Amino acid sequence: MDTLSDSYNCEGDDEPPSSSDDSEPPQCIPASNRIKLFGTVPDKDWNDWKWQFRNRVTSVEQLSKYAPLSATRYAEINTVTKTYPLSITPYYLSLMDLNNPQDPVAMQAIPSIEEITVRYTGVEDPLEEERDSVVPGLVHRYPDRVLMVLTDICPMLCRHCTRKREWKNGDWVRTPDDIEKMLNYIRGNTNIRDVILSGGDCLTLSNKHLANVIHSLRQINHVEIIRIGTRFPVVLPQRIDSEFCDILSEYGPIWLNTHFNTVNEITPESAAAVDRIIRAGVPVNNQSVLMRGINDTVEKQTRLCQGLLKIKVRPYYLFQCDEVQGTDHLRTSIDTGIKIIEGMRGFTSGLAIPNFAVDLPQGGGKITLQPNYIVARSEKEILFSNYRGRMINCNNVSADQPVQTYPAPEAIPDKLIYNLPEVMDADRVII
Ligand code: SF4
Repeated sequence: MDTLSDSYNCEGDDEPPSSSDDSEPPQCIPASNRIKLFGTVPDKDWNDWKWQFRNRVTSVEQLSKYAPLSATRYAEINTVTKTYPLSITPYYLSLMDLNNPQDPVAMQAIPSIEEITVRYTGVEDPLEEERDSVVPGLVHRYPDRVLMVLTDICPMLCRHCTRKREWKNGDWVRTPDDIEKMLNYIRGNTNIRDVILSGGDCLTLSNKHLANVIHSLRQINHVEIIRIGTRFPVVLPQRIDSEFCDILSEYGPIWLNTHFNTVNEITPESAAAVDRIIRAGVPVNNQSVLMRGINDTVEKQTRLCQGLLKIKVRPYYLFQCDEVQGTDHLRTSIDTGIKIIEGMRGFTSGLAIPNFAVDLPQGGGKITLQPNYIVARSEKEILFSNYRGRMINCNNVSADQPVQTYPAPEAIPDKLIYNLPEVMDADRVII
């Protein structure tokens, strides 16, 4: 594997243009605490994703310059980072209320001592991705799609990360040789029609590197769609620059899944990043993770999902937090997730309701769960409870199982017989 510096070149020729480019609507305005925490940073730097990346907060010492930390908290964070490191972009830090220990943005980014002291069911690789890796970095679990893990680097290290096990290996990027092996596997398997680029976060790679991978995939006839999984629109939206959007436009159909977890992450900057992606012809879906104290109520999920629709992002999945070692303290019960969906269904648009999914341990794959609306059933009827608890009976028959006969055509009363030419001339007929 390459090191970060081999592939990600902060100073190189492929330096992307700053997202402060006047031609990109809509304009960003500063994130909430930017002035307070980073008031001396000029717009040119703040809107440059490579400046943001270079200036990530990666130690408790740096963090203490921004956040008030007691001696105990300082020591705890220091201890945790020896096992699970810390990385926060200045932009994401500026979204936090650093005086509130329960701030839902801070809880996703600032280490907690519970990561190493609470242990219920978490294991390193609950989804058994290593077992399903057909060549290094390529996970082939479902019949028609594969996951390409191109790097383990992320701009922000989420405390709930499913691939937290990779953090101990330091920063790595797949070599050209590794990538060629993945491509060869995909070339040789004609039932693979969907390729997901992920990581880490694959957008930590340069545009040139990403374009090479996507270009190679597009040479494979049976690859119909490419999906990109990235948290950049949420944690470093400045990364969505015009050069990246040009790649999206050139190589579609591409779908992009991102990862907002709370409404506090929806900002003018993240909305502008999403807008740029959509203008490049790429639909944006959201995959959030259900976490205790962060987004585990009906009210919080409703605000998140309604906020996402306002910036044109479709809430796609709400995932049960995987049973990953170091994340036990953030997990809620599966029942909590089902109750949240039950509390949303009917009370807000169906578009705002994600699929609640559990990625089953032992590599069992994803299943989706719904509240149970069926109260009773007979052979031809089902009794439902609606979203307000009202009981309603529904017939459960199809057209090839008629339960009632109707009058033959000659018995239809005159008033129900229409003049066919007149009907055909009409734009539409309402009966
Ligand atoms: S962006 Fe995704 S892969 Fe990266 S740390 Fe967060 S959850 Fe893990």
